[in-house]
Amino acid sequence: MNDCLFCKIITDEIPAEKIYEDENTLAFLDINPINPGHALVIPKEHSRNILDITSKSFSHVAETIRKISPAIKDAVGADGVNIHINNEPEAGQVVFHMHAHIIPRFSNDGIKMWQGKEYDENEAKNIAEGIKNSLDF
Ligand code: AMP
Ligand code: ZN
Repeated sequence: MNDCLFCKIITDEIPAEKIYEDENTLAFLDINPINPGHALVIPKEHSRNILDITSKSFSHVAETIRKISPAIKDAVGADGVNIHINNEPEAGQVVFHMHAHIIPRFSNDGIKMWQGKEYDENEAKNIAEGIKNSLDF
């Protein structure tokens, strides 16, 4: 993808603070961290997001997240980590090369998690049915 920011980070056309690289994935520090050590894990094979990534490519990303999260947590002295993926603009995606955020979390870091809503009567059952009917594998 010629005009993709993260493809250009893979090929070193744009600089980044890289922290881990293997044949299929790359991890680097987010340029505007939510907390110190906030990192992004990307597949080297371009995809837009979770809605079009291949099973293989996503498995590689998942394994890299699993491998490097403990090191990130230890290096910055964090108490925990959030793993977060935005998919499509309405869900907060700004860069359209699939990426997972690894966000170190500290007690009292002030970051608010989103609030849950409540379902109306039968709403959950109907939505679950709809989702199950949409599964096409
Ligand atoms: P998202 O909203 O999930 O698409 O997140 C995109 C993330 O990419 C944001 O957290 C940005 O701070 C980060 N970002 C954008 N440009 C760069 C860059 N050149 N190097 C590192 N991180 C970047
Ligand atoms: Zn790309």
